[in-house]
Amino acid sequence: MSETLPQFPYYADPIVDAVFEQTSIVCSACGKQREWKYQGVFYSVDEDLIICPWCIADGHASAKFDGEFQEADFAKTASRESVLAVRTRTPSVGTWNPIFWPDHCGECCQYIGDLRNHWSAEIIESATAQADIRAIAELTRMTTDEILEWAKRGAIYLRLFKCVECGKYRLALDLD
Ligand SMILES: [Zn+2]
Ligand SMILES: [Zn+2]
Repeated sequence: MSETLPQFPYYADPIVDAVFEQTSIVCSACGKQREWKYQGVFYSVDEDLIICPWCIADGHASAKFDGEFQEADFAKTASRESVLAVRTRTPSVGTWNPIFWPDHCGECCQYIGDLRNHWSAEIIESATAQADIRAIAELTRMTTDEILEWAKRGAIYLRLFKCVECGKYRLALDLD
């Protein structure tokens, strides 16, 4: 029996990041036997929880254990609903340090992955990505060329996001 994993509107492909492991579990939230186990972080006072993807997607795990999945800062311009969905119904994005979760069109963006795995001129030269690279360069006192060079080498990480409304790209700095 293979179950189709739920979709996460704010996390494009958690399977690629090994957020879920295929193994038999009994979920702490729904009590059901499942074939997928969540491997990521869950911030809750309860420990040793075993959580299935479905209880993340429908908010059950977050509600039952009063927990959240992200360690991130959010834009004030992102809708409260989208911030709540990222914090309570989206698997944790495995970053080295807390990141700034970008928004666009008034909503939190969807996490795509490490830019290194999605390297393309279309993305990097887009106006929104260029604006983020300039802001990151200013923040880190580096040049935009240096930012891209370091990101390519994996000396710093640029997390790639995409607008859920218009599809434009945004980048967030994740320092090792
Ligand atoms: Zn469950
Ligand atoms: Zn947009």
